Amino acid sequence: MAEPLLKVEHLKKSYGEKRVLEDISFEVEEGSVVVLLGPSGSGKSTLIRCLNGLEAFQGGTIMFNGETVRPSPKNWRRLRQQIGMVFQSYDLFPNMTVLENILLGAVKVQKRKRDEAARQAMSLLKEVGMEQYANAYPRQLSGGQKQRVAIVRALELNPKLMLFDEVTASLDPEMVRGVLEIILRLAREKMTMIVVTHEMNFARQIGDKILFLEDGKILEETPGRQFFTKPQTERAKSFLESMD
Ligand code: ADP
Ligand code: MG
Repeated sequence: MAEPLLKVEHLKKSYGEKRVLEDISFEVEEGSVVVLLGPSGSGKSTLIRCLNGLEAFQGGTIMFNGETVRPSPKNWRRLRQQIGMVFQSYDLFPNMTVLENILLGAVKVQKRKRDEAARQAMSLLKEVGMEQYANAYPRQLSGGQKQRVAIVRALELNPKLMLFDEVTASLDPEMVRGVLEIILRLAREKMTMIVVTHEMNFARQIGDKILFLEDGKILEETPGRQFFTKPQTERAKSFLESMD
């Protein structure tokens, strides 16, 4: 068996006195998709943010790509080039074009040649149906289009792992499908991903493994096929019923 791409062991996180993640352990195999489900406030975003160095944690270890992460700012800056993240708000720079937004990390951080990085950016934009917007500004785009650009911006760094935290939560309903299709295609292309979503059909389609969180703990870890028909806990069952 190959080592998992990501291995989290006994992760603990508090905000002051408040324990938000308690003894979280799980693995993500290369080429697989893990979906995080759970009620609002269960700790999904906090967990995702810990995996990207956006939050400090107080205990436990994160192993990524064969390396035990020593959580220094310098290490996280390096690792963030391999761990892409897209979240609910798109946070594109408003004074830069779509293409400039996408190239920023590739050219400034990864020190790649602009021509080569731009070729990749244009090809990625084409894949998400956005190549005609390369020179547009974020304000000229719909929410769904901005979210596509945010995904391309993360992919441009050629990450080994992608984290998606409710990327369709603030989109108009008619924009949701297009963004989910892109993530489904990444899954077919064997991108390793951790996905937080409230879209249960999508979760069922994409999740190789479901982690169900409540109060900062993993209540169950179940193969995707099984979770939606036969969850192991009553709590997950009533959660699923409430999502219908
Ligand atoms: P989810 O994404 O599952 O809705 P979160 O990870 O956002 O849950 O939040 C988990 C818990 O941590 C909640 O109780 C929330 O109020 C708390 N929390 C999140 N961010 C902060 C913060 N910056 N300071 C204090 N508490 C926080
Ligand atoms: Mg959240």
